[in-house]
Amino acid sequence: MSETVRISDYFGVDLFNDTVMRERLPKKIYVDLKRTIRERTELNPATAEVVANAMKDWAIEHGATHYTHWFQPMTGVTAEKHDSFISAPTPEGKTIMEFSGKELIKGEPDASSFPSGGLRATFEARGYTAWDCTSPAFLKHDGVGTILCIPTAFCSYTGEALDMKTPLLRSMESLDTQAIRVLRALGNTTSHTVIPSVGAEQEYFLISRENYLKRKDLIYTGRTLFGAMPSKGQEMEDHYFGSIPEAIGVFMADLNERLWKLGIPAKTQHNEAAPAQHELAPIYTECNVATDQNQLIMESMKKIAYKHNLTCLLHEKPFNGVNGSGKHNNWSITTDDGINLLNPGKKPHENDLFLLVLSCILKAVDEHADLLRFSAADVGNDHRLGMQEAPPAIISIFLGEQLQDVINQLLTTGAADHSIGRGVIQTGVSTLPDLFTDATDRNRTSPFAFTGNKFEFRMVGSSDSIADCNVVLNTIVAEAFSDAADRLEKAENPEEEAKKITLENLRDHQRIIFNGDGYSQAWVEEAERRGLPNLPSMVDAIPSLTTEKSVAMFEKMGVFNRTELESRAEISYETYAKTINIEAHTMMNMAGKKYIPTVIRYVGELGNSINSVTSACPEADVSAQREMLIECSALLSEARKALKHLETVTLEAAAEKDIVHSARRFHDEVIPAMNALRSPIDKLEFLVDKSYWPYPSYGDMMFQVGSK
Ligand code: ADP
Ligand code: MG
Repeated sequence: MSETVRISDYFGVDLFNDTVMRERLPKKIYVDLKRTIRERTELNPATAEVVANAMKDWAIEHGATHYTHWFQPMTGVTAEKHDSFISAPTPEGKTIMEFSGKELIKGEPDASSFPSGGLRATFEARGYTAWDCTSPAFLKHDGVGTILCIPTAFCSYTGEALDMKTPLLRSMESLDTQAIRVLRALGNTTSHTVIPSVGAEQEYFLISRENYLKRKDLIYTGRTLFGAMPSKGQEMEDHYFGSIPEAIGVFMADLNERLWKLGIPAKTQHNEAAPAQHELAPIYTECNVATDQNQLIMESMKKIAYKHNLTCLLHEKPFNGVNGSGKHNNWSITTDDGINLLNPGKKPHENDLFLLVLSCILKAVDEHADLLRFSAADVGNDHRLGMQEAPPAIISIFLGEQLQDVINQLLTTGAADHSIGRGVIQTGVSTLPDLFTDATDRNRTSPFAFTGNKFEFRMVGSSDSIADCNVVLNTIVAEAFSDAADRLEKAENPEEEAKKITLENLRDHQRIIFNGDGYSQAWVEEAERRGLPNLPSMVDAIPSLTTEKSVAMFEKMGVFNRTELESRAEISYETYAKTINIEAHTMMNMAGKKYIPTVIRYVGELGNSINSVTSACPEADVSAQREMLIECSALLSEARKALKHLETVTLEAAAEKDIVHSARRFHDEVIPAMNALRSPIDKLEFLVDKSYWPYPSYGDMMFQVGSK
């Protein structure tokens, strides 16, 4: 019998975590480092030196040859440049392994090729990476060997943020400062810090690598640009939560093991709604750590899939006509002494602090709905939002029956005197235990839903970093807390003032609450009547970043300055234009070189068939071939015209000097031209002999692995 390996035996073995630090660091150094982490202060260089040495020894014992400052530039993915530990060879030709405190704390990658949105000219390409000691270092075991990865923030010579992490850390500090002000003003003397917690559910698709490699569109753009719906899609709803197919199960087991070794508490796994779609959720943790972990989850999914001859698609909409993939960002705010400020308790109507916090969140989200929408904007997500089972591009908040009832009481009488309790579910089976319902029900259609003791922001795209949305959430809520704290600190009776603020916030911002069906057209119209922004596409959402309102807020909260915001807007426009440009070129290539020539061969074949059948047997009925020939030829001609048009508009949009105009033209002209090309080709896929068809079909891709 083979020995059973328990998860607890290897959980976190690849992580330089607290246990390792306690074991390997002198007590004084350990205490100093822990204090730095807890109080989020600067690390003293002497301490860094000792930590670096311990980290190096630990890494080398685990087989590491290199270290890297692991960072998150504004590409949405992570970056790393490996340095080996070896020193210059001695005269005897030997080398020793070195790693100094300076190398741990600071790095200077030549960063001229990362997007900076004009923040840093190429000739002065200095960028610095700085150790984020609040996120533990870890080991990656890859084809290249074992690498010690040090999570870092990346900024320019003049201190501007060039990455996703710097603003995230700033936003966490800002939220901490303002939340503590509120707590102190209300008499709390025990909490020292307030930290946002995040648990990000990650959806993904898995297809066979063999099929993936045959699809140019998947290789270049991550999504299918052509493809007719198969005979079966997701209408049977038999995939969601279905038994996990063996090939996928083996992948999941391997993925879990890798994540657990990295100390990432992968918790739930299941099939999602679309065929070949799945989900993984880890247990929540501190916001910046959760952001790092989510990056590692995405990267691990890709690498493990490769090992299993699969390909993991993280695009928001790999296949038209079935569900896309998102990322649910579960967010709450907790004090270091364990108070979850979003926990309503059994009697929310008596929980003044919770109601104040809730009202501040309503105010924050209402005032900055456009920014929150922007935070979930990425090119792929444009295809997902508002489509099958994805929230619309309109921000609203779902509170559920219990909280809505408390708020209604407050708004009508100025005070609330009861909370609707939990119900009991009668199953009608005497052997089943009584089940209690949750006080908040679920509303899957809401982009921002209260779910018990946290908010779930469901708009984020599956391939996107969760940094952006958490920067926005933390900062807008920090601002609302700051407004409240200004008043509470001055008030003679802070408790009474807190109630007043709560009422005012609820009264002024109740329009952001919507408990109905967010997928319905009626809501789109209702939202418009309420004056809520509806920003369907990424290009519509980018301007939110640089409005005076947003610049003032980010500057006041110390998260972004105007220059940084402008650079981010520019990068977003560039990303949009470049992505659509690549998609358009990929379509032209596939249509021009494969689809159209294929159809030409096929119509030739039909013509030959008509001729040969008629000459062999003049009275034979060739009307079927004739009709197909006419239909295919008409679609062929439509495709060819659409291709020519796509070529023209793509060149024009790309030639546009101004990046905003260019991005807009890609959105307004190129996307419709892409759709116009796709349409006849997808129709042809049904007409042309399958053995002629140049690419694997939707059915081949979505049902091949998942059905075994
Ligand atoms: P569901 O799909 O039902 O929403 P999941 O179990 O898939 O639930 O995911 C819920 C996520 O929310 C998990 O990552 C979980 O750790 C996280 N979560 C739970 N409580 C909190 C909290 N207080 N703050 C942040 N995230 C939380
Ligand atoms: Mg889930």
